[in-house]
Amino acid sequence: MSEQIIIIGAGCAGYTAAIYTARANLSPLVITGSQLGGQLTTTTEVENFPGFPDGIQGPELMMNMQTQAERFGTRFAYENVISVSHDNSGMFTVTTSAQSYQARAVIVATGASARYPGIEGESRLIGHGLTACATCDGAFYRNVPVAVVGGGDSACEEAMFLTRFASEVYLIHRRDTLRASRIMAERVLSHEKIKPVWNAVIDGYLTDESGEVSGIYLKSTTTEERSELALKCVFMAIGHVPNSSFLGDLVERDDHGYIIRIPGTMSTKTPGLFAAGDVTDSQYRQAISSAGMGCSAAIEAERYLASH
Ligand code: NAP
Repeated sequence: MSEQIIIIGAGCAGYTAAIYTARANLSPLVITGSQLGGQLTTTTEVENFPGFPDGIQGPELMMNMQTQAERFGTRFAYENVISVSHDNSGMFTVTTSAQSYQARAVIVATGASARYPGIEGESRLIGHGLTACATCDGAFYRNVPVAVVGGGDSACEEAMFLTRFASEVYLIHRRDTLRASRIMAERVLSHEKIKPVWNAVIDGYLTDESGEVSGIYLKSTTTEERSELALKCVFMAIGHVPNSSFLGDLVERDDHGYIIRIPGTMSTKTPGLFAAGDVTDSQYRQAISSAGMGCSAAIEAERYLASH
C-alpha cells in the first residue's frame, strides 16, 4: 500500500510536520530513525521555546510533540531509513533497514548529528570517556575532572550541566572568545567549577589500562606548544553534521552537506520531496525555527498532493 506522505525524522521539524499533515487528514507515517525526539532529547532545560515561561525539559517537550502528533492519527515506524528513490511516475520508495515503503510525497527532517574532530583512535573511545552528550553520560563522572570542547551555546550548556557532577569542567576552545550567546557565555565564565582553556585543541587521547580516557594532549593554536591534561571524560560540542547523505542525488547540498531548497520554498530539486529543520538549516538551528520549517513543509506538501 502506498502512503500519501512519509516524514523522515522525529525531531522538532518532523513532529511539527506530522501534526500539520495529520490534521490535514493525510495520515502521515513518520519513520523515526534511531534518535527518537532528535537533538532536544540530549539537552536539559529548554528556556527559549515560546509558550513555556518557566522552561521545559527537552525530552518532555519532544514527548508532548509526539503525543500531539499521535492524537491526530500520525503513525510511527521505529526504523532507520537507508535510501530514498523516485520513479518516473513521481512515486517515492523509502527503504529502511526493515522494509520498503511507497509514498507520493516525502518530508526530510533528519536533523544533524554531533561532529567529532577526527583524531586518531577517536572512534573506539566513543562511550569510553568520549561522548557528545552530557545529559546522557554526565552522571557517570562524579567528582572527577572532565572537559567540554567547543565555544558555542551547546558547549556552554554542556559545561553548565556537568558542573552538577564533575569536580571541575575544562572548557577547551580553539579561540579566546566564546561564540555562544552573551547570557550563556557570562554564566559559564562566572562559574567557579568551569575553567576555560583558551586557544587550544585536542591533539590526542591518553587511556588507562582498561581503555578508558584518562587524559588528553592539548595543542596551542597560537604557539603549537603541546601539553597534557588529566581528566576522565571529554564531551564534544563542536557542531553538527547534517544527516542528508542517504538521499543520493535527489537533493542539492552545500559544501557542508546541508540540503539546498528552491529559494522561498521548502521544496528540494525533486518535486514532492521537501526538507525541514537542521538538515537544511546551517544558519538558525533552533528548536523553534525547526518547528516552523516543519509547519511550512507540511503546508507545501499538502498543496503539492492536492494538485498532483
Ligand atoms: P556552533 O555554534 O557551530 O559552535 C561550534 C563550536 O565548536 C564553535 O565554538 C567552533 O569554534 C567550535 N569548533 C568547530 N569545529 C571545531 C574543531 N574541529 N575543533 C575545535 N573546535 C571546533 O554549534 P553549537 O554550539 O552546537 O550550536 C549550534 C546552534 O544551536 C547555534 O545556532 C546555537 O545558538 C544553537 N543552540 C542554542 C541553544 C540555546 O539557545 N539554548 C543551545 C544549544 C545550541 P569557533 O567559534 O572558532 O568557530
